[in-house]
Amino acid sequence: MLLEPEAVAKTGNNRRAFLIWQTWRPALLNRGVDEPVIEINTSATPASAAPAAAAESSKPPRPPHLLWRVARAVTDIMLPPQCVNCDGLVERGDAADALRYVCASCEARIEFAREPCCPTCGFPFYGEMEEAETRVCEHCEGLSPVFSEGRTAVLFKGAARALVHELKYHNVLYPLRDIETLLKRAPRVLEIARGATLVPVPLHPRKERHRGYNQTFFIAECLAKAAGGAKSGARVEMLLRRVADTVSQTTLDRATRRANLRRAFALARGADAKVNPDQKYVIVDDVFTTGSTLNSCARVLRRAGAKDIKIATFAHG
Ligand SMILES: [Zn+2]
Ligand SMILES: [Zn+2]
Repeated sequence: MLLEPEAVAKTGNNRRAFLIWQTWRPALLNRGVDEPVIEINTSATPASAAPAAAAESSKPPRPPHLLWRVARAVTDIMLPPQCVNCDGLVERGDAADALRYVCASCEARIEFAREPCCPTCGFPFYGEMEEAETRVCEHCEGLSPVFSEGRTAVLFKGAARALVHELKYHNVLYPLRDIETLLKRAPRVLEIARGATLVPVPLHPRKERHRGYNQTFFIAECLAKAAGGAKSGARVEMLLRRVADTVSQTTLDRATRRANLRRAFALARGADAKVNPDQKYVIVDDVFTTGSTLNSCARVLRRAGAKDIKIATFAHG
């Protein structure tokens, strides 16, 4: 597996042992208690899986078995959970809304996007601001959004960045638990997700095969659950597919990225019949960078007849 430079820097024997432990720990100890139990589909993520997952989230959690609680307490003493950002110990309580893989110090430095925010991408404006809703931030300059509004949960740095990196480059799913917890603390993002069809930004099939999953699909599922599951009307549908593999866009300038992305997406097979002009759509991505990817996705939905299109990202950076 090819790792990106930052991922390589974090790879070492201790790190590897930690990752293996963090990956298997939920399966060994917490399954059915409070960890996300997600089956990885190695083929393209089926659109039909999403409503079922959303319905699943409305079930009450099973109470933890005493034996598992004891086993977890023992292993926490022997192999205590480490912070994904600083490798420090995570001293956690049993509260459902506690972060499990981020220490208290790193958690305190996670920055949520609080109002006033850029209406296009959700990046917070700092300092005194008048008529913020009419302004766009430096990240959105030159972007002609096809969507009506964008919101983001946190800024892409520190522990939030580390969670996304683990999910994307280390083939582990445990960060999803904390990502869902953080999304629950972002009311502006939950607000637009409710009653909406959440459309994950697709990966190219080759990349999805290589990674084994599309992390954005899982983040969209986390968002649907955080928003209240099926009761809230939020459901995930893979309406789009990626037809061009736009690898390594990070080295290109903004204009070239946008040009490359223009024709990178298309409707998923059979999705044209599902696009409803009266339905609310929220395109979901892990991170907002330039907005080009999300805008290209929005353009495809708009052409297919969708009228109410917004975007939501877990992080912004
Ligand atoms: Zn930490
Ligand atoms: Zn912006």
